[in-house]
Amino acid sequence: MLYHKITSENGTTKMVDLYEDEIFSICPSCGIEQEVDTELLQSILTDGDFGGTSVYCAECTKKE
Ligand SMILES: [Zn+2]
Repeated sequence: MLYHKITSENGTTKMVDLYEDEIFSICPSCGIEQEVDTELLQSILTDGDFGGTSVYCAECTKKE
């Protein structure tokens, strides 16, 4: 299981379950919100930079 680890202002740590259908990303080109599916998540993890990854939507991917 993957989870978010959130530290609140009073210093307590909370774990929030992370499900694959709850991961979203904003396309850096058109700003549309899109769901990150398992396949996409896998390629992000394989290619490296989880935090700095820009995930383009299908439409913008086509344009390039
Ligand atoms: Zn886009």
